Amino acid sequence: MTTSTSHTTESPESTVTEPSPLLAEILRSKHLPSLPAVALQVVKLCRNEEVRVTDLAEVVSLEPALSAKLLHLANSARYSRGHKITTVPRACTVLGLKALKIMSLSFSLAESMHSKRRLTDFDYQTYWERSICTAVAGRNFARYTNQGDQEEAFFCGLVSRIGQLAMANAIPSEYGDVLVATRGSIPEAEQESAILGCCHNDVARELLHSWELPDSLVNGVANWSASRDHHDTDILAKIVLVADRISALLCEYSDSGKTVDVFDIAYDLFGLSHGEIADFIVSLQDEVKTLAELLNVDQRDVRSYQDIVNEARNQIVEISLETNLDLESSKRAKSELEGEKQRWQEAAQTDALTGIPNRREFDRRVQAIIDASCRTGISREIAVALIDVDHFKKLNDTYGHLAGDEALKQVAKCLAKTVRQTDFVGRIGGEEFAALLTNISFRNLSIATERIRRAVESLKIEYKGQELKVTVSLGAVRTAKLNKGMDITTLMEEADKLLYAAKDSGRNCVKIAEA
Ligand code: GH3
Ligand code: MG
Ligand code: MG
Repeated sequence: MTTSTSHTTESPESTVTEPSPLLAEILRSKHLPSLPAVALQVVKLCRNEEVRVTDLAEVVSLEPALSAKLLHLANSARYSRGHKITTVPRACTVLGLKALKIMSLSFSLAESMHSKRRLTDFDYQTYWERSICTAVAGRNFARYTNQGDQEEAFFCGLVSRIGQLAMANAIPSEYGDVLVATRGSIPEAEQESAILGCCHNDVARELLHSWELPDSLVNGVANWSASRDHHDTDILAKIVLVADRISALLCEYSDSGKTVDVFDIAYDLFGLSHGEIADFIVSLQDEVKTLAELLNVDQRDVRSYQDIVNEARNQIVEISLETNLDLESSKRAKSELEGEKQRWQEAAQTDALTGIPNRREFDRRVQAIIDASCRTGISREIAVALIDVDHFKKLNDTYGHLAGDEALKQVAKCLAKTVRQTDFVGRIGGEEFAALLTNISFRNLSIATERIRRAVESLKIEYKGQELKVTVSLGAVRTAKLNKGMDITTLMEEADKLLYAAKDSGRNCVKIAEA
């Protein structure tokens, strides 16, 4: 399915080249809302620039219901100049040509659309409550901000979602899928586009075009959903967007937070503070009630707009608190993660049994010293000693594996204690350890390794009331010159050969050499 007319991908100014197949199907449907005879006449008359109020009044008089509405409007606070207006021609004069055109169009269209209900899942009641609310909000918002035409804003508000009515009636099964996705609530254009490839604004654009309505009205109805993202859309579309969000708040207010976006939108598009838009919304209540009565739309239990707005504003505070809390907890989670990472890194560097550096960490530290020495050109005299427990297998066999473990722990502790602060020891294999000794002369290497050997030899390993004894053999290699490209492996191999020599010499002894 193409999305050539989807509002989410098109800029509002772009012309629709080819409607999607589904849109074409909708437009062919015999169940589309149609302009009632009076409205058709009004539109036709208005195409003539010379049209007079009396011509329009004549057409309007043919329709008693419409006449009654226009009379009511002319006597409302907005138009009345004190004395009661009782005749249609007089009402038409009071309203003026422009208001008369748009209001007759609005009223007759609303009247004719009101009765059409084909899709049982579609919430016609809410649809109508919202349409009326959006119409009043749109008109009053144009007046409040002194932008846009009030009657046009009223009309665009009233039919702002007419495309949904058209889709619900023309393609009930497909539109039913959208309603399933929105769990029965009035869908947004994005949701329709995602499922159908076109949205109600696309349908409305085509519909209003086919009725030959003026471009300003067509654009107002077709572009409002996308007008938050398109800053060049005309003012009418922006007014309708704000009005739509107001009607969402007033008619579909829930604590889900979905309907409170009007505060942000009114601020983004018109720079209104939360307090200003709140007061504006509260001011709408009486006029919405009047229009609902005029158009025979029942308003379900209408709560005080003041209460709804108060609750919504509280909710905004809660949402922003939650956002802050989210931020806090994500910060906390991050630091926990970092702590966790650090613990994990430490675990990855440490030998689990003895708690001293493992093979990888030992190698890394030695290599870092070699690299730094080469980089800075400051040569350091270092020695690597390999330390292997003698006849350890026998100890395991005699006292058990757990005794062996205990011995390894104690040996590791002893080794770590025996070397200098600047030196370090690692466990590089089962019963094999290594020590890195820095800044050490050959003579001192001999002394240091011998001290290590003796320290282990004199170690009394306590295990279950027994005292175990072990010895170690050492092979150590010293280098006075750390060459570029030298790596830890070379030194370890040298030391390993010396360790074998020590084993060969009867164990519990030391073999050292200069690299
Ligand atoms: P040598 O003097 O020639 O080094 O003799 P050895 O018995 O110490 O050497 P060998 O390589 O024959 O045996 C090493 C033993 O160390 C075998 C193995 O079971 C034991 N071992 C290795 N890691 C552990 C450990 O984590 N815990 C215990 N308890 N024993 C271990
Ligand atoms: Mg060994
Ligand atoms: Mg051994």
